[in-house]
Amino acid sequence: MDVFYLRVVRKRLLYSDIVRVVDEIVGRGSKRVLVQAPDGLKWVIPYIVEKLKKSVNVVVSSDPCYGACFVAYDEARLYEADLILHIGHSPLRDVDYGDSVVFVEVLEDPSLAKHFDEVGKVLRAFNRVGVVTNVHHVHLLEELSKLLRRSGKEPIVGGDGVRAWHRGQVIGCDYSSAKEVEADVEAFLFVGGGTFHPLGLSLAITKPVFALDPYSGRAYGLEPLKKKVLMQRFQQIERAKRCRRFGVLAGARIGQHRPALIQRVCDYLEKHAKSFEVLVVDQVVPERLYPFKAEAFVDTACPRVAVDDAAIFKKPMLLPKELLVAMGDKSWEDLVEEGLLSQTFGYDLHIL
Ligand code: SF4
Repeated sequence: MDVFYLRVVRKRLLYSDIVRVVDEIVGRGSKRVLVQAPDGLKWVIPYIVEKLKKSVNVVVSSDPCYGACFVAYDEARLYEADLILHIGHSPLRDVDYGDSVVFVEVLEDPSLAKHFDEVGKVLRAFNRVGVVTNVHHVHLLEELSKLLRRSGKEPIVGGDGVRAWHRGQVIGCDYSSAKEVEADVEAFLFVGGGTFHPLGLSLAITKPVFALDPYSGRAYGLEPLKKKVLMQRFQQIERAKRCRRFGVLAGARIGQHRPALIQRVCDYLEKHAKSFEVLVVDQVVPERLYPFKAEAFVDTACPRVAVDDAAIFKKPMLLPKELLVAMGDKSWEDLVEEGLLSQTFGYDLHIL
């Protein structure tokens, strides 16, 4: 497995990066390459494919691809591709991808300096600040730290994650870089677009979380959204308390395959005299679950389905550790105190 990058400058890919990545791939002597990217980065694919197909046969996956856990091995096998080009995510440290996968990260360069007055306002009450970001901005951590120092703050960046590839990087199911420095900081600053990562961070730690969206220039605190999501989680758990029949969702993708956790969830349900069936799912979406009689689901595949998408499912969708609260073995207050997403994958194998 190799990791390359493409830089985006003023909304365009740097041509020299495209040439470098394509040369690397052609140099591998592959006969056919399968290319995949998340929906938000599918615009990158034609730039690569146009050049690549002059030397190599190419097939493109149109399927969604939510993380580095979604590497398209099955599609590659079916269409006889000997190499998978996975664009937009960094690899997961705990996954053995083999030699047939190349990751291409997409690095963006929004201006940070012009928004720093806003950052200063939200961080006014804090001095020691933990700094985290997503894969698209990890190369900006140095600059970010300098700007914070110039504003009189002491920035602290954690190491790489248990799953996350880079120092100071967080992903939807791994906030260990932040956990590592939590005791040393008064608050965290996340830099990047959208609320997905900073919300996850706020559910993994107890310190206040702030975010700078460098595209809109907005700096904001996560507390209101965290409260809203915790309320939704509480309601889901309360509903699950009345359920007797559970579906244990088991991921079908390489980075969502957790047989040990599935076994523990099943043993735990059995201990509580609940009936259950294990359902292998590629994507956890409502239409895949309608035909089953389960009254509630426990998702071992991706913790963000329960946290971000619970409202689209008619039946309760729980994290494995929330099951402890539903069965009366842990208090809701203790769960909130330790953080819903505080362990790797949002799950802890030892909790059940
Ligand atoms: S398990 Fe979910 S949060 Fe983790 S990398 Fe995969 S899609 Fe992202």
